[in-house]
Amino acid sequence: MRLYEHEAKLLYNHHGIPTPRQLGTVQAVEDLDKLDLSFPCMLKAMVLVGGRGKAGGIKKANDLEEARAKAKELLGLTIKGYPVETLLLEEAVDIQGEIYLSVTTDPATFDMVLVTSASGGVDIEEVARTQPDAIWKKKLVDNPKELPGDVADEVTEFLASQMSGLAQAKAQLRDTISAIYACFQKTDAKLVEINPLVLTSDTERPILAADAKFILDDNALYRQAETLDLIGFDTKGKRHDVSEQTTHESRAYKNSFPYVDLLDNPDAFEKEPEKLYVGLVPGGAGYGIFSIDEVVNVGDRYFGGKVVPINFMDSGGGPPVHRVAEMFHLLMDHPLPDMVVTSRFGGISSCDVFIRGLIQALRDRHATGQRMIPVYGRMVGTDLPSAREAFEKAKQETPEPLKDLHIVVGNQKIMADVIRDALEYGFKVKENGA
Ligand code: GDP
Ligand code: MN
Repeated sequence: MRLYEHEAKLLYNHHGIPTPRQLGTVQAVEDLDKLDLSFPCMLKAMVLVGGRGKAGGIKKANDLEEARAKAKELLGLTIKGYPVETLLLEEAVDIQGEIYLSVTTDPATFDMVLVTSASGGVDIEEVARTQPDAIWKKKLVDNPKELPGDVADEVTEFLASQMSGLAQAKAQLRDTISAIYACFQKTDAKLVEINPLVLTSDTERPILAADAKFILDDNALYRQAETLDLIGFDTKGKRHDVSEQTTHESRAYKNSFPYVDLLDNPDAFEKEPEKLYVGLVPGGAGYGIFSIDEVVNVGDRYFGGKVVPINFMDSGGGPPVHRVAEMFHLLMDHPLPDMVVTSRFGGISSCDVFIRGLIQALRDRHATGQRMIPVYGRMVGTDLPSAREAFEKAKQETPEPLKDLHIVVGNQKIMADVIRDALEYGFKVKENGA
């Protein structure tokens, strides 16, 4: 769960990480009058994406009138597709230098990783590319709950050697870095990133976290009641973390089923013309993983490795008809798949619901002239007789929308063979245009 900057800064302050003075949040220009403002102040757009500065989402105001004008401007803004509904107001600080600092977990080894650079404030990926030496990185094995003293010294010295003026603030810098690490550990965070951690001209408070990216681990939220309480988050609610999802993933999330795009940046992906891209609607998660493997396996064996599965999906146990329909709609609205391969292995879930959902999706799309692609698959298991009946009846009633629907009913063919038939059909359609 990704936190908004104002929430993250509440946690920072709680864990002893200094920030610019927080003046409050507003959702309307009139609300500015309710805050005890001081000037100059910063107005910051609260959206769960980075790069707000470049997008015009960070502004400075020298008096109330200016704050009103800028708040009005910001509240009308949309940043990377997300409308700005809340603004954070905080004290503007005099920045002498910008540090990048983050703590995260290495996804392969689960070791903690501390990353820092004196070339902060800007896009850190760019720094990593152009000046790799400007980045200091340390793995912390054995999951220490506190930052070891020698590491704190090492990172402080590194930064002090890179930025003039930092030598006078070494003690505060060291304390802040240790506090950031401890905060990461105590909150079960996945990522704590401060870009920039700033050096100010204020000798009383020379080191402040001017920005805050904070991602909590969803799997640990159950034991983070105090953290959620501190930010006023309703523990029954769950935040939809849009920042790291593709448009298709967030659509699936809203419809309550797990879905993962397997190709990076699917909406701008350049397909290779000779390859067949396959969308998958399996039953459960296990079948979902199997389907990905088997499509690749059959593709490698019989089709020269020219088959690309595009997604993982899971219907969840006992999905309602409308959810099954939505699973097919999602893939047919998706720009990548040339066809859908589906497998309903009815256990908890019923074949009857599955086929009704599938038929409904195809009929709806046909009636409204939406994109349709071949669907090929198999269904076996629970409620197969009534599913077969419903399927036969539907084909007689409305043959046109179902003309490119090919479902093996029953287990006379193993799934590997069904997939092979499906891919052969998919390539044929691709070459002959049906
Ligand atoms: P981001 O663009 O979404 O990462 O938003 P940030 O909170 O990092 O703000 C972008 C930039 O605005 C920072 O890198 C700073 O250079 C600048 N900035 C933010 N707060 C202040 C402030 O209090 N004073 C000054 N002078 N600049 C600020
Ligand atoms: Mn930033």
